[in-house]
Amino acid sequence: MNADLHCHSTVSDGWLEPVEVVRRAKANGVDLLALTDHDELGGLALAAAAAAESGVGFVAGVEVSVSFAGETIHIVGLGIDPGNPDLIAGLRQVRAGRDARARRMSEALAAVGIAGALEGAHRFARNPALVSRAHFARHLVASGVMPDVRTVFDHYLVRGKPGFVEHEWASLEDAVGWIVGAGGIAVVAHPARYRLSAADMTRLLDRFVAAGGEAIEVVSGAHSDDEMRRFATVARQRGLLASRASDFHGEKESPVDLGRCNLLPSDLTPVWSRLI
Ligand code: AMP
Ligand code: MN
Ligand code: MN
Ligand code: MN
Repeated sequence: MNADLHCHSTVSDGWLEPVEVVRRAKANGVDLLALTDHDELGGLALAAAAAAESGVGFVAGVEVSVSFAGETIHIVGLGIDPGNPDLIAGLRQVRAGRDARARRMSEALAAVGIAGALEGAHRFARNPALVSRAHFARHLVASGVMPDVRTVFDHYLVRGKPGFVEHEWASLEDAVGWIVGAGGIAVVAHPARYRLSAADMTRLLDRFVAAGGEAIEVVSGAHSDDEMRRFATVARQRGLLASRASDFHGEKESPVDLGRCNLLPSDLTPVWSRLI
C-alpha cells in the first residue's frame, strides 16, 4: 500500500491545483492520498472527484495550525467530514487570524527595507484567505532578495528574524476536537520539526491523546531516518497509529515527492488501517 497522507495544493501553499496533485500522485503510484491543506477544506471536493476518476483512494484531510508552549504545532486531520459545521467554523476563525498576521509581517519586513511584501505574497497566494509564510518567501525569492525559499526562512521568517511575528493559532484541544468531532483521526504532523523541550514534547503528546488524538507522522518528508526511528519508538511506547506523509508542496520546494517516502517500520499499526 503506497499511502501518502499529507500534502498541499494551491488552496493553501502548494504549487499544484488539487486536481494536479491527484494526477501527480497517480503517476507516482500512490494508492491512498490525503490532501491536507493548511486550515482549509476548499480543495477536497475537486481532489476527491479527480481521485475517483483516476482510481486513487482518497482521504479528506486538513492541517490545522495550533499554538502550544510558544511554538506552532501542526495537527493533521484524516477522514474528516468536510461538511461538519464546527470544523468549518473553527477553520474559518483560524484563517481570519492569517490576514492580520500577514499585514503585520509585511509591516515588519517594510521596517527592514523590504516594501510591498503583502502585495507580493498575495501574487503567489491563489487563495486570498490563505496567505502563508511560504508565499512571502516565494515573493522574496522572485524579487531577488534571497536565492531560495529556505534561505528566506532562515534570514527573515523564523522566530528572532525581522519578518517573524508572533501569532496565536488554534488551541491543541480545539483542533483535535474539531477533527474528532468531524469523524476524523487527529495526527501530530512532522513531530521532529518542533523546537520543544523533552518535557514540552511529553506534555504535547499527553494533551493530544487526552483530547482524543490517536496518530503521529513517523515517516515524513521533513524527517531524517534518525528522526523517523525516534518517533517510531514514540508510536510504539504510546500505542499511537503511525502515518506516512510526504508533506509535498511542489517539485522545487519539497525534498520528497508524492508517494516517495520511506516505508513505515512494519511492526507499527498504519493509520490507514482505520481509513480504508
Ligand atoms: P505558516 O503556516 O504561514 O506559518 O507557514 C508555514 C509554511 O511555511 C509551512 O507549511 C511550509 O510550507 C513553509 N515553511 C516553514 N518553514 C520552512 C522552512 N524552513 N523552509 C521552507 N519552507 C518552510
Ligand atoms: Mn505549507
Ligand atoms: Mn506542517
Ligand atoms: Mn504540511
